[in-house]
Amino acid sequence: VGEPSVIAVDVGGTSIKAALIGETGEMSRHVDVPTPVGAGAEAVVGAIRDVTRSLGGPSVCAVGVVVPGVVEVGSGVARYSANLGWRDVPLGDVLGAEAGVPVAVEHDVRAAGHAERTLGLARSVADCLVVVIGTGIAGVVVSGGRHVRGALDLAGEIGHVPVYPDGDVCACGQRGCTETYASAAAISRRYLAGTGTIRSAEEICARRDSDPAAARVWAEAAEALGLALAGYTMLLDPSLVVLAGGLAGAGAALRDPVQSALAARLAWRPVPAVEVSPLAGRAGVYGAALFAWRAAGRDPGADWQLG
Ligand SMILES: [Zn+2]
Repeated sequence: VGEPSVIAVDVGGTSIKAALIGETGEMSRHVDVPTPVGAGAEAVVGAIRDVTRSLGGPSVCAVGVVVPGVVEVGSGVARYSANLGWRDVPLGDVLGAEAGVPVAVEHDVRAAGHAERTLGLARSVADCLVVVIGTGIAGVVVSGGRHVRGALDLAGEIGHVPVYPDGDVCACGQRGCTETYASAAAISRRYLAGTGTIRSAEEICARRDSDPAAARVWAEAAEALGLALAGYTMLLDPSLVVLAGGLAGAGAALRDPVQSALAARLAWRPVPAVEVSPLAGRAGVYGAALFAWRAAGRDPGADWQLG
């Protein structure tokens, strides 16, 4: 039996990332598999079980799994996800029966926001926004030191702030949402529409100096984010915006144009700092680990030193 650890699973629309994380925050093993969204909800649940089983062992004291959509934290039921095509999945019970340890089920963006506030750049920042950009875009609003959840627990949906009144139709049913221009999926889709070539957002970012279509799509994503962030800045006056999620792996290539686009919209007030999370695409996994450790009756995290 090795050092005690938890299994942390971040279920995204593109991939399932999972890791074994110890009490000091070290990641000892990790697995990254594609999410079988095309094969239906049962296949996705099966993939989550497989990943959890592959990391299981006698030293595991809890499991934390974070998913998109609507999550009922108390009962561990994943109520609804458009991206994963599921409804009312009792994930907590399914995984708990198999692993025989406590299971925490949480919302992926809240988990990433929790990780940023506990371990990341947003640590002890009273007024900030954490924007998680992956297959979709969503944020965690921190105002006056508190996580703002809203009347319907829907605060932070910056991905569905309309930035162009007659813009593209979003999967959510609205038009011109930030997400239709700036999510990793949207960047790929818009590049494909312009060129007929399928490329990942990462590849498009890498080509932006040599490929005009890539440069245009990337700049339009930054512009849409800048517009949405200008609205946020005027309403809530943050000192910091943290860009997290898979797209944040682009680093300065994302931060610089987003900061410029935001600055271009703000004539008379200081521009809040825009930073890219060093946790990037791992924020969800670390968030899952923090919730898992809490389910195991411990609360490490504040002391974790992550590179
Ligand atoms: Zn939308």
